[in-house]
Amino acid sequence: MMSETMAKPSVAILGLGIMGSGMANRLLSANFPLAVYNRNREKCIPFARAGAFVADSPRQAASRSQIILSMVADDAASRDVWLGDEGALKGEPSGSVLIESSTLSGDWIQELAANAVERGCQFLDAPVTGTKPHAASGELVFLVGGSAEALDAARPVFSVLGRDVVHLGPTGSGALMKLVNNFVCGVQAASFAEAVSLVEAGGLDRTKAMSILTGGAPGSGIVKRVAERIAANDFTPNFALRWMAKDISYALREASTKGISLQTAAAALAVFQQAIAQGHGDEDFSAVSKSSKKIVH
Ligand code: NAP
Repeated sequence: MMSETMAKPSVAILGLGIMGSGMANRLLSANFPLAVYNRNREKCIPFARAGAFVADSPRQAASRSQIILSMVADDAASRDVWLGDEGALKGEPSGSVLIESSTLSGDWIQELAANAVERGCQFLDAPVTGTKPHAASGELVFLVGGSAEALDAARPVFSVLGRDVVHLGPTGSGALMKLVNNFVCGVQAASFAEAVSLVEAGGLDRTKAMSILTGGAPGSGIVKRVAERIAANDFTPNFALRWMAKDISYALREASTKGISLQTAAAALAVFQQAIAQGHGDEDFSAVSKSSKKIVH
């Protein structure tokens, strides 16, 4: 009888940031043969101790893996790990299943998918909803674009990392859904941040005002998350503010190529950019509530 470990596909995780590290830990706990790569090697140390193979390059990680999942910052980072000089697609990954789970632009996803197909690989765009604790506990939701065949091959990995997998259609569908999801989150967070400013400027009791907003119609999941962070005065990143700005800007670009104007997204992006200019980019996105919104006369 095959051992449990032998029955599992070998996996590479490229990117051990907030999300990638949680995902890698889940796979190790479930006894998947795992290779990890991170640009800053220090983040690999605990994974080496836990039994992962630490690769010198994405190419080396990919060369020993059947399923290769990238979870990095943005389009530029994704380009580096897949197509850089030592990128995962520079080896001989033919037959592998490539999963791009970072939140990225539609243009780049199409370019990457074409490169994957050229090299004989199956490709899925599979960004996620959920944040740091969901990555750590395997409760992400994967928003998938690509073929049903590739999805079936990736399911053993998704089932350890996520609580649900939604197949949205062909390549790019998962990436687009994620940008739609996050621009709505960004707009809500930015408008709540402005609401907090108005509450304070108007001299209202902040606790009562927060309770009315979070307990009433505006109290979405995202608004509640921002309110909790304000109450705790804790802006340690689960999801960095600069990545929220990145997602809104990709959503705007995506919409414009489809002839749609996202006016609320444009306004929200300005609020997030101001927060970045004020030094809050590396904090949790909820730190948007700390950026000054005073009119300068
Ligand atoms: P993070 O903690 O900032 O980690 C970013 C990762 O990207 C790090 O491993 C970083 O490597 C790597 N990276 C950045 N630039 C690179 C480059 N040029 N070449 C190679 N690697 C590079 O971000 P995260 O929160 O894990 O998010 C990862 C992705 O998931 C993002 O696309 C984000 O939008 C998306 N996402 C995040 C959340 C969340 O709640 N955090 C939820 C859903 C989706 P170094 O360590 O060397 O800097």
